[in-house]
Amino acid sequence: MTQTERITLFADVLVPLPVPGLFTYRIPYEMNSIIRTGQRVIVQFGKKKIFAAIVRKLHEQIPSDYTPKYILGILDEKAIVNESQLHFWDWIHHYYMCYPGEVMAAALPGALKLASESKIVLNDQYTFDTQILSDNEFLITEALSIQSQLSIGEISQIVGFQKVMPLIKTMIEKKIIVMEEELQEKYRVKTERVASINELYRDEDQLRQLMDSLSKRAYKQLEILMVYLRETRFPQGDPINVPLKKLLEGAGASSSQFKALTDKQVFVVSEQTVSRLQTYTATHDPAKIILTSHQQEALQSIQQQLINKDVVLLHGVTSSGKTELYIKLIASYLSQGKQILYLLPEIALTTQIIGRLKAYFGKKIGVYHSRYNPNEKVEVWNKVLDFQKDADNEHQIILGPRSALFLPFSDLGLIIVDEEHDSSFKQNEPAPRYQARDAAIVLAQMSGAKVLLGSATPSFESYFNAKAEKFGLTTLSERFGGIQMPDIQIVNMREEKKRKTLQAHFSSVLLQEIKQAVAAKEQVILFQNRRGFSLRLECEHCNWVPECRNCDVSLIYHKKQNMLRCHYCGYAIAVPSNCPTCNSTGIKMHGFGTEKVEEELGIILPELKIARLDLDTTRSKYAFQEIIESFSNGKSNVLVGTQMVTKGLDFDKVSVVGVLNADNMLSYPDFRAFERSFQLMAQVSGRSGRKNKRGKVIIQTYQPKHQMMNYVLTNDYKKLFLHQMSERKKFNYPPYYRIIMIQLLHRDNHLVNLAAYDLAKMLKTNPNYDLLGPEYPIISRIKSLYIKQIIIKFARSQNAAEIKKMVADHIYNLQTTENYKSVRVHIDVDPQ
Ligand SMILES: [Zn+2]
Ligand SMILES: [Zn+2]
Repeated sequence: MTQTERITLFADVLVPLPVPGLFTYRIPYEMNSIIRTGQRVIVQFGKKKIFAAIVRKLHEQIPSDYTPKYILGILDEKAIVNESQLHFWDWIHHYYMCYPGEVMAAALPGALKLASESKIVLNDQYTFDTQILSDNEFLITEALSIQSQLSIGEISQIVGFQKVMPLIKTMIEKKIIVMEEELQEKYRVKTERVASINELYRDEDQLRQLMDSLSKRAYKQLEILMVYLRETRFPQGDPINVPLKKLLEGAGASSSQFKALTDKQVFVVSEQTVSRLQTYTATHDPAKIILTSHQQEALQSIQQQLINKDVVLLHGVTSSGKTELYIKLIASYLSQGKQILYLLPEIALTTQIIGRLKAYFGKKIGVYHSRYNPNEKVEVWNKVLDFQKDADNEHQIILGPRSALFLPFSDLGLIIVDEEHDSSFKQNEPAPRYQARDAAIVLAQMSGAKVLLGSATPSFESYFNAKAEKFGLTTLSERFGGIQMPDIQIVNMREEKKRKTLQAHFSSVLLQEIKQAVAAKEQVILFQNRRGFSLRLECEHCNWVPECRNCDVSLIYHKKQNMLRCHYCGYAIAVPSNCPTCNSTGIKMHGFGTEKVEEELGIILPELKIARLDLDTTRSKYAFQEIIESFSNGKSNVLVGTQMVTKGLDFDKVSVVGVLNADNMLSYPDFRAFERSFQLMAQVSGRSGRKNKRGKVIIQTYQPKHQMMNYVLTNDYKKLFLHQMSERKKFNYPPYYRIIMIQLLHRDNHLVNLAAYDLAKMLKTNPNYDLLGPEYPIISRIKSLYIKQIIIKFARSQNAAEIKKMVADHIYNLQTTENYKSVRVHIDVDPQ
């Protein structure tokens, strides 16, 4: 008797943890024929933990140095991650110098990740106040602020003893932590109860008899039946199932009245899967958009260049009608049966964009919202995963913020990166610290797709690439519908102060413009780059300033709660009436934020209706949308906000824009400070102006002679670009040089200093890059961790991959040194 040889297969899998490399598991024989790369499998990792891992590679090589464990189970029938995504993950892992598991953790929606055991997480009501904590409690909260969840086993390792339940119990009672059970799949299919009519009544006579009998004795029941017949357009009968809720609401009936019908076996009730996602109906035809001659030229130029180039930059001034071009392009890729990804800097922005796109593309539009709940995210993921060419797909066009890059696209044709200059495309925390615009270009290359970058104020990196002909470049310098560029006026605040014409933080010029605009039933936007009251307290006598106990920053006054609050860790204290050092009552306030602007303006011009748009007013899911809509509908006439108001919002009635303090943007110590402040001022200026009326922009500054003011005044992007490029070339900054920033973090300042010193010593051995530091960053302590940073700069001509490899090796050596095991290292490639 011959026996066919059994093949033993192995799988290299990714686990969603910050650990290097892949892990090899043995595949039980009976799974050989059903296992695929990209599936989730259950594996045991370490002594106890069970994870859903992703199969990265299948092979027959037995590991030489250890006996692999078996895969415990397969979670998915088919792959949930495709091969090209896995390549993209690899690229992120190498380029951004993070662990492969960190990419997986960032890419998969939370509900597709699962791990065993009870998990301890921070209570989201908890504000980080280290002073009230015992040492053990501190250690645990500190670990949780980094790792977001811990198992009970991990907690006992952290505190160094076994019986940790009493400690956990106290911490739960103190509302510091909560315990979550995470034993099964988090994604749940949503179902609803539906009713269908008994087959018997498909017969007309039977149905008539039924109706007769009901009309005599049970009128409500008859009404339910009528609603059913109407909904299903009986007897065509499509759909046969009608949600119970709809029947009852339609007939104004109660469930007991419905129950009578099921008792009579008129209806059969069952459960049906329903989508949580909104679908839209198209009302407009993209083909019917009539472009202006400028737009037409621009569209042709983009299409022409995309034949030979992978990326085209569309530099179109504010209100130049970029969206119409996007719609035309999307329509053309849609007709080729391709998937389209439309990236936006901040999800809040989608309110207006979705509105415009859904009118043209209806159910083809899918939104990947950062505020969606985990189940909704999985549903979007599955819709993209189920995309089939030549099918009538929903969600063929995805709108989303940077995380939408990770959706399982299989036939991507076009990626649009709208407002490509926006810094929120960069993820700063946690790893992977990727730049979504740059990553989108790589993803497109891997998928054979094209990229369109759009902005009124392109990032200097993108403009540099366009000038170097790496990208195509299309310029739209005319505003749509003949709207003129706004009239910009610089107000010298020093002068106003001297003449005593300042009222609070408002110049006489700005107040005059606000009054005129409101009198003419127009609207005003006021931009202040700080939220809250942004007031720092200072003692007049001894210059004492209240500071955060956990971070190296001063506390900010928040009027609503009458508290001083840390913007980094949430630590808060009551406002002191006396100075704690000299006991003086002369505590003064400095600076001002959006909340203060709102209050002051309300006092000066009490007839105004003022709305405010900032992080504090938009915490709930729909708050942003509500504020924007109510301003659009004229329910308020002044909108005060942080940079949120600069982000591509369109309002018809805004004629005046005020920049309250241009100086705090310019003084920011970063090589991008000029680029950023130009972008902010140009973007917010672009909100003003409408048909037949030129908009007015008032910029208040104490440095009216600053060269930046001239560039803003003349809207001379190109001149600023050239000026900045010569500076950056001279001082070795991007785009001429590449930067890698390494931060070392620890609770012990001395230890972090030693580690940074030793790492710098190792790194200094390479002549191919410049090394800066180690030094403290501007904020040298956050959430009780001291920070020391080292910056590596090297010319673009250098072999970046080689340098990264070397840097990674040195960091690995440092982290495996006994003394430094607890020092955390953050690597940021291309920091922003
Ligand atoms: Zn004092
Ligand atoms: Zn703090």
